[in-house]
Amino acid sequence: MPHKVTLIPGDGIGPEIIEATKRVLEATDVKFEWQIGTVGQGAQDKFGTPLPDNVLESIKKNKVALKGPVTTPIGTGFRSVNVALRQSLDLYACLRPCKTYRGVPTPFENVDIVIVRENTEDLYSGIEFAKGTKESNRLAKLILETTKTRVKEDSGFSIKVISETASRRIVKFAFEYARANRRKKVSAAHKANILKFSDGLFLATAREVAKEYPTIEFEDIVIDALCMRLTRNPQQYDVIVLPNLYGDIVSDLCAGLVGGLGVAPGANIGDNIAVFEPTHGSAPKYAGKNKVNPIAMMLSATMMLRHLGEIKTADKLEKAIAAVIAEGKNVTYDLKSDRNQPAATTSEVADAVIEKLKKQGG
Ligand code: NAD
Repeated sequence: MPHKVTLIPGDGIGPEIIEATKRVLEATDVKFEWQIGTVGQGAQDKFGTPLPDNVLESIKKNKVALKGPVTTPIGTGFRSVNVALRQSLDLYACLRPCKTYRGVPTPFENVDIVIVRENTEDLYSGIEFAKGTKESNRLAKLILETTKTRVKEDSGFSIKVISETASRRIVKFAFEYARANRRKKVSAAHKANILKFSDGLFLATAREVAKEYPTIEFEDIVIDALCMRLTRNPQQYDVIVLPNLYGDIVSDLCAGLVGGLGVAPGANIGDNIAVFEPTHGSAPKYAGKNKVNPIAMMLSATMMLRHLGEIKTADKLEKAIAAVIAEGKNVTYDLKSDRNQPAATTSEVADAVIEKLKKQGG
C-alpha cells in the first residue's frame, strides 16, 4: 500500500527542493500517493485565503505532510501560513535535529543536538495590538491600573503567553523523544530570572516533568548563557527544549553550527499529525535558479520515513545523502569550503543521491 502524503511545494525555493526530494523518495522502495496542496500567495490569489480548508482537510486525512517553505509578507499582508498551520492542526512540537555530517565545512565536529521547540504559543500566539488603536489604549490603561506602570502612548503590543498545559506537553515530548532515541540529557532553556510568570512557569513545569524521567539527566539554562555555550562547546548538548521564540532562534543558531540552513531538517508534530519541513525559509532571491541545497528538505523526508515506520529506507536515504556530502563533488555552493568552486545544482544533488541509493541496491 502506498503512503498517502500531502505534498505542499510552498513558494520561493520550495517547489524546486520539493521536486528534488520527491524524486529521491520515489527512487526508494517505498511507494507514495501524493496529494498536492497550494498555500501562500498562490492560494491567496486563487482561493482568497493563504491557507485553504482543502489543504487542512487533506493533512488531517493523511496525517502526514511534506512541506516546502512559504513566504510570509513582512509587516503587512496575510499572517504566517506556517504559524497558522501549526496552530490549526495543533502541531505543538517542532523537532529540529542538528547533526554534523562528514564533509560539511564547519568549525565543529561531532555535534548531535535535537532542538524541541514549543510551537503554539509564546510570542507567536498572534495576540497583538497596533500602536494608537482603541484596543492598545485600553490595554495601556489596564496596565496602568493593575501594575502602576505607564507605557509610552506610541507603543505597540505583542503578548507573550506561556501556559502550564503547553509547557507540560512539550517538555514531556522532549523526554519521550530522549527515551525513544536513547538520548542522555534534556536541557530546558528559559529567561525565568526576568520573565517570572511566563518563562518562570515553563521552568517550574519542566522541573516537575523531569522528575518523571529519573534515568535521563535534566538541566535548565538561561537562554543567553545557552547561546554562548553552544558557540563554544556545542558537544555538551543533547536534547534542548525551549519555548517558541527561543526555539526559533536557537534552531537557526544550531543549524549554523553544523554547516548552515542547507543541512537543517525539521518536523512539526502533534498527537496524530506530522508535517515535515526544513528549518530554512523560502529564500526568495534564489527562487527558480536551481541553485539552493535540497538536503535539509531531503533530511526532513528521512524524518518522515521514520515517522511512517520505514526505518530501513530512512537509514538508506540518510546514508546516501551523507555519502554525497562526504564526497563533496555533487554539493551545492553552500557546502563548498570555497564558494568560488564550481557547485552542483539542486537537481544534480538529487541525481547524485539517487545514484548512491542505486549503488546501495534500493
Ligand atoms: P531563509 O531561510 O529563507 O533564507 C536566508 C538565507 O539562508 C538565504 O538567503 C540563503 O542564503 C540561505 N538559505 C536558506 N535556505 C537555503 C538552502 N536550502 N540552500 C542554501 N542556502 C539557503 O530566511 P529569510 O530570508 O529570513 O526568509 C525568507 C522567507 O521565508 C520569509 O518570508 C520568511 O517568513 C519565510 N520563512 C518560512 C519558513 C517556513 O516556511 N517554514 C521558515 C522560515 C522563514
